[in-house]
Amino acid sequence: MRAGVLPAAAARLGTKSTHHWSAAMQISFDLLRSSDPDVFDAVLGEERRQREGLELIPSENYAFPEVYATNGSVFANKYAEGYPGRRYYGGQQFTDRIESLAIERAKRLFRAEHANVQPLSGSPMNQAVYFACLTPGDTVLAMDLSHGGHLTHGAPVSCMGRIFNFVRYKTVGLDGYIDYDAVLETAKQVKPKIVLCGHSSYPREIDYARFRAIGDAVGALCMADVSHVGGLIAGGALANPLDAGFDIVTTTTHKSLRGPRGGMILSKASLAQKIDSAVFPGMQGGPHMNAVAGIAVTLKLAAEPAFKEYAAQVVRNARVLAEELVSQGCTLITGGTENHLIVINTVQSFDIDGRVAETALDLAGLTVNKQVIPDDPRPPLKPSGIRLGTPALTTRGMKEEQMKQVAAWMVQALRSPADEARLRAIHNEVRVLCAQFPVPGLD
Ligand SMILES: *Cc1c(COP(=O)(O)O)cnc(C)c1O
Repeated sequence: MRAGVLPAAAARLGTKSTHHWSAAMQISFDLLRSSDPDVFDAVLGEERRQREGLELIPSENYAFPEVYATNGSVFANKYAEGYPGRRYYGGQQFTDRIESLAIERAKRLFRAEHANVQPLSGSPMNQAVYFACLTPGDTVLAMDLSHGGHLTHGAPVSCMGRIFNFVRYKTVGLDGYIDYDAVLETAKQVKPKIVLCGHSSYPREIDYARFRAIGDAVGALCMADVSHVGGLIAGGALANPLDAGFDIVTTTTHKSLRGPRGGMILSKASLAQKIDSAVFPGMQGGPHMNAVAGIAVTLKLAAEPAFKEYAAQVVRNARVLAEELVSQGCTLITGGTENHLIVINTVQSFDIDGRVAETALDLAGLTVNKQVIPDDPRPPLKPSGIRLGTPALTTRGMKEEQMKQVAAWMVQALRSPADEARLRAIHNEVRVLCAQFPVPGLD
């Protein structure tokens, strides 16, 4: 074993014969260090940042350590346009094997009739569904961005918003809950082809049966974009829209699922052909087979009992963190959480905008993102709140006790956003906690 190469992985392999070890991985880090020290230093710097800070951005996570191996594998060299058994290039015996594994595992884990694991990320994944099921100008009923929806749900700045007619429903009042009766009324008026639910910043569970009924009432397809909560659904901590009869479920693979960057489309068998053609050749060329390999591994690990426990703990941690924040005077959108994420109205709670809050927390070693709140009167780069979540901390093994500590640090930092000495002192305490909770694969 060469010194200094992937030390954690090497230690796990122990004294096993290097015969079982990928030659490409052994060599690549040593070479990178000498060929491009700037990039190598940045890799090490980022690794250290991820180890020594508390990662609270709810869309981020630490991938399963196995994913670093597949991401860096020779599958990145391979063109595999097409699908297993019907490719446009030769040499597919191993790509076919990993993609078939990923598809079978996805179907089993999510109880889906069909799975496409090729989308390069979450955005092309949703675009492929629209092109599979709609013609330009067709109507989609989806959640408004500032109320929790995603850019790809028809925000006017997105290309999709210019090609299809998105009508966007909102949450109501200070509670910030979805008003299903209002969604039904709008659906009756605008007659969408797709009723779309799913979100990036809605801290509540979704009533998929209600959405299915709305879709049925107007003859629309039901689509759920569970990009944020895919791992929590896989782990059984949240409801699966496919169990409520949804036609299409999309999810990223790199958020709560802990896989490589990518997307998956799960659907009824009747839509399989249209969806596969929309992904390739409709939207994309060659799939990233290194990501597909990582998705296969991720889906195997996500089916294990330990991942069920992980998913349940993510939700428990978020609930405790939210309760602590509320008890210390924070105003939360919807007053709490039922999933992994929390949105704090920082203007109301601390009289600072989300940008100031994000910067102060960064100095204290707590990484969050600024976030618009429903119908935010402020601009997106200086919005009224911040968004945070528990997937990454839970991956480190943190539990309820640590969530209470995190809430205390957050409130201290947000009460004194200009006191740099105080913020740095918090960061020192954060480092001590981080040292007790190693990141799988990095420590
Ligand atoms: C993150 C996310 C996406 C897009 O994923 P990217 O990989 O960033 O393109 C789509 N939909 C929702 C709801 C998301 O949260």
